[in-house]
Amino acid sequence: TAVGTGIAQAAPQRPSAPSPPSPLDPKIKKLLDRMTVEEKLGQLQQLPWAVSTGPGGSETKDVEDAARAGRLGSVLNIFGAKSSNALQRMAVEESRLGIPLLFGLDVIHGLWTTFPIPLAQASSFDPEVTRRDAEVSAKESRSNGVHWTFSPMMDVTHEPRWGRIAEGCGEDPYLTTAFAVAKVEGYQGEKGSGLDAEDRIAACAKHFVAYGGAEGGRDYNTVDVSESRLRNHYLPPFKAALDAGVATVMASFNTISGVPAHGNSHTLTGILSKEWGFDGFVVSDWNGVDELIAHGFAEDGADAARLALNAGVDMEMASTDLAKHGKKLLSSGRISEKRLDEAVARILRLKFELGLFEHPYADEDTAIDKPSAEARRAARETAARSMVLLKNDDKALPLKKSAGSIAVVGPFGDSDDLLGTWTFPGAAKSFPSGKVLAAVKAAAPRAKVTYAKGVDPEGTDTGGIPAAVAAAKAADVTVVVVGEPPAMSGEAAARSDIGLPGGQEKLIEAIAATGKPFVVVLVNGRPLTVGGWLKSAPAVLEAWHPGLEAGNAIADVLFGKVNPGGKLPVSFPRTVGQIPVHYNHESTGRPYNADNKYTSKYLDLPQDPQFAFGHGLSYTEFEIGEPKLSRDHVSARALRKGDTLEVSVTVRNTGERTGDEVVQLYVHDIAASIAQPVRKLRGFRRVTLEPGKSRTVRFRLGADDFGFWTNAESGEFRVEEGAVDIYVGNSSEAKAKKRLTIT
Ligand code: BGC
Repeated sequence: TAVGTGIAQAAPQRPSAPSPPSPLDPKIKKLLDRMTVEEKLGQLQQLPWAVSTGPGGSETKDVEDAARAGRLGSVLNIFGAKSSNALQRMAVEESRLGIPLLFGLDVIHGLWTTFPIPLAQASSFDPEVTRRDAEVSAKESRSNGVHWTFSPMMDVTHEPRWGRIAEGCGEDPYLTTAFAVAKVEGYQGEKGSGLDAEDRIAACAKHFVAYGGAEGGRDYNTVDVSESRLRNHYLPPFKAALDAGVATVMASFNTISGVPAHGNSHTLTGILSKEWGFDGFVVSDWNGVDELIAHGFAEDGADAARLALNAGVDMEMASTDLAKHGKKLLSSGRISEKRLDEAVARILRLKFELGLFEHPYADEDTAIDKPSAEARRAARETAARSMVLLKNDDKALPLKKSAGSIAVVGPFGDSDDLLGTWTFPGAAKSFPSGKVLAAVKAAAPRAKVTYAKGVDPEGTDTGGIPAAVAAAKAADVTVVVVGEPPAMSGEAAARSDIGLPGGQEKLIEAIAATGKPFVVVLVNGRPLTVGGWLKSAPAVLEAWHPGLEAGNAIADVLFGKVNPGGKLPVSFPRTVGQIPVHYNHESTGRPYNADNKYTSKYLDLPQDPQFAFGHGLSYTEFEIGEPKLSRDHVSARALRKGDTLEVSVTVRNTGERTGDEVVQLYVHDIAASIAQPVRKLRGFRRVTLEPGKSRTVRFRLGADDFGFWTNAESGEFRVEEGAVDIYVGNSSEAKAKKRLTIT
């Protein structure tokens, strides 16, 4: 039996009774009683440290003055023990009540040790890699005065055009949930284990909610979503993060069916606070309170402050509407003292939990100032574990170390711009990510290794292609390293064309035309349309943006030191016009039919994506047997009471190398009161097997796996009678199935 990662059990989604509002801690109560209205409003304010002239920017001096005056709760974008201590001292030693500041930072996939981007990590189908990233991040951050990270992002999305797809886990709520939980626990420790330890930071579940539904994939765009879609698709990772004890939640920039998330009392108060009993605090996104005006929802700053606070936002990031207008809003009764006190109490509670009142300062002598050797090893292992072998005809990969000559070609072949979105300028400069060229040279020391850039990733100059072709002609094998610069994904980085930018496709075509062996390595932050050149490329390795150890990790996989075992957490569309294309869609009334004519497919495209969710090859082969159910009937009533059944399946390595397979389990409720996705992932397990060896993997399924949320605004989770098909295989296209009847 496979040693589970606990994933199958990691996604509790049914409604749980809201925890009773915790009685106000006497420490908090005492402090609240002493605070003036200005000081209370101050706790609700978060200002950015970096001087900025853009919307929401603030001058250093204003931040320092606010800290001294006790009119500031939190600061973002400050890190480093010395600088954060200096500012902290102003709050603790110079303000009237000495309440410590809370320092937040976007540590998304590492502070000094940059791990692969979150989308890459999701490709590992191994949440433990993400737990380790979070543990390393927490340690490096806390020692540098950072108490709180704005991570994990758990926005499920069907939009590869959306740049922020890089920051999340792709198109599946179940996979996203497993990674969100691992990340929260990695930052904070197991629930209840105490945030005051020197290697722990508070996490932030973001963005609440449905941000990934942005129309057209344009960042910040409108989202119109049914209640059932909201609850089945976007909310589950948040609920699971709450159950794992996540300390804070960030509101999202989008509207949700007409109501901006920052002013949305249905989601912030109705669901988050009342239904789920969340007792942490909600931070706005950058300027998100003031942007209620641009949304056409608030008349002015005072109105925005009122709407946001009353809907459930506790802390205002960057904009200053609450601090400016709070007093007047209070005296005119448009916000209540009770609500203000509640928001302040939530924020103070986290400060107490973090131990900031006892230990407000970072230790300047022991602050971690570079990645440790161990952290680097973890980053390298994670990057290799996250790579997905998309195609490998005639075993073009792995490369032979005995090759006499290797040409590395392409703009990312000798680049250290492989860290991905959300990295720190200091970190990127001090610890450049390993370059592929250097790593290939190190991995094949006897080979003659040459390099030709060919083209730029941006710009249309193809003048370098002849030199690249010459290098390829002179070499036994060519490694083409192409992709997107990190700035092409992440926030405000939507693309309408998601092919390889610049002249990179032309470069691949020119290399293919030499007739010599070559392989393609992709480094990118989103799914790409890999149409035209794909046919001619014998092998394609999806490396994503691999982080600090990019070059070494890519070489590890290219030369077979690591056998790739990652799987796609998101579908790759054939063309942009095919978007949205995702595995967990609903069936139309006209799915595939005999002549394949009257279906919803485009005339000029097959129905399926280029590469499906869950797809990924290995240097060895696996055989997955027929699934077995521990029983083929189960009652809905028993399921609701906690009954479960087991699905077991045997996986065998039928090839010649040790390798990893991800066994995946999908369910489909064939008839329900709300049409169900044709498949939904409800179990996965990554196993390592030696050649000829087999293992039985067991999944436990219960009400969470067979039920679904209805359209009721008040939340109704239903397990209905009828037939459910259970599919098991190595991708979302799995064929082997068994039928379960729920009576
Ligand atoms: C992003 C957030 C981020 C915040 C602070 C915003 O623009 O949407 O994800 O945490 O900035 O940097």
